Amino acid sequence: MPHKTHTKILATIGPSSSSKEQIEKLIDAGCDAFRFNFSHGTHDEHKERYEIVRKLAKEKNLHITIVADLQGPKLRVGEFANGSVLLKEGQKFVLDMDHVPGNEDRVELPHKEIFEALIPGEKLLLNDGNIVLEVLSCDKSHAITEVKVGGILSGHKGVNLPNITLPISAITEKDRKDLEFALKLGVDWISLSFVQTADDVREARKLIDGRAWIISKLEKPSAIDELDEIIRLSDGIMVARGDLGVECPLPTVPVLQKKIVSACRKYARPVIVATQMLESMINAPTPTRAEVSDVATAVYDGADTVMLSAETAAGKYPVEAVKMMSSVIRQVEADPLFFTLMQKSRLHSCCFGEADSITFAASEIAGVLEKVSCIVTYTSSGLTTFLTARERPNLPILAITSDLEVARRLGIVWGAKSFVNKESFKSFDKVEDIAVKIALENGFAKPGDNIIITAGFPLGKKGRTNMLHTVHIPE
Ligand code: PGA
Ligand code: MN
Repeated sequence: MPHKTHTKILATIGPSSSSKEQIEKLIDAGCDAFRFNFSHGTHDEHKERYEIVRKLAKEKNLHITIVADLQGPKLRVGEFANGSVLLKEGQKFVLDMDHVPGNEDRVELPHKEIFEALIPGEKLLLNDGNIVLEVLSCDKSHAITEVKVGGILSGHKGVNLPNITLPISAITEKDRKDLEFALKLGVDWISLSFVQTADDVREARKLIDGRAWIISKLEKPSAIDELDEIIRLSDGIMVARGDLGVECPLPTVPVLQKKIVSACRKYARPVIVATQMLESMINAPTPTRAEVSDVATAVYDGADTVMLSAETAAGKYPVEAVKMMSSVIRQVEADPLFFTLMQKSRLHSCCFGEADSITFAASEIAGVLEKVSCIVTYTSSGLTTFLTARERPNLPILAITSDLEVARRLGIVWGAKSFVNKESFKSFDKVEDIAVKIALENGFAKPGDNIIITAGFPLGKKGRTNMLHTVHIPE
């Protein structure tokens, strides 16, 4: 029986991991999916990496998921004449729209939307929250601030405004270009950074028009205010703890993580827990105890996927980081408490009607019938697999689809193993035989086992799951 875990690993590709040899090592170490971070790298670099991943996946007969992560409206200060300045607590510091290198007294902030939204008393967080400025007075093109927390500020550092919903779209001009490029390449998911409102997701959906699935990255307090609606409008969610931890008080991040993971389960959407999971492995071959514990907690929380950022993109030990993550996942999933927790946290809410009732029942049957070795979901849109995964059964979830794109997209869904088969969608008679054949051939069942099949009739019609079937495989 193939021993692959249920919780998936998404690794960010970057300079430390862009060669074919290196990407292959990451896949062999347990990566299910790769993130291409459009905040860094050229289109040519992304294209080269894309082709390597697809080629390797084909050679290995795997469906590897590719996520294109758009930079979004990341706000930044302009540059300084001397590269950087030291801001001292209590001093005044001016932000303005003058395109002139900055000094100890002022710097450019090239975002007119910020000045339009600022009010006295508002706080600006710079350089990942290490520097704090409070607005004393402001108009449409500049703001006089007082330095509340000082430090060294260098050019192009990020600016966060936790308490303000800016009148800007989550998709910038750069994002539009990157988006078209990524969609043309054929990526499986697009992730949207700094989603502020549900309308941001609506706008992205219009632009993407079904060409990829959408991950909303939750890293703004205003997105948490519209959590349920954003989840419902998205195909997947990322708990983007890096920026979330700057925008919200840090101690609230673990609490939000649990809240978001559980809300995603309610709506049957895959959820990724991201950032600083094994941060110290950027420079060291082993992580800290706290980091190992953090990965384990995300798995126990019920995340579909855990993510690596700089650890694999720019670190010294990318392969070791994936191996470490993979072995933490294995340890947690081998703990009987893990599936007890998954079962205890099952929700009996029914957002999807008929489909929900079938996948819920499939999971119940798995707990009553003996020798069940897997649940096979026939899926056209992916929804049946999402719904089955939401039940968190202690069994592999096979997804049979006629659509290669759907098969690839399912790589970040908890427990899902995808198979493309067009034949089974042609005739209903073949559903049972093909499910058994795929389960046997891939080691997910053996003679004497039972398997559970869910499907929709008529076959291939999206959004219908109305059939539940158990099959005994003769000895
Ligand atoms: P980023 O997103 O790495 O693209 O900033 C993740 C996060 O903010 O946690
Ligand atoms: Mn971020």
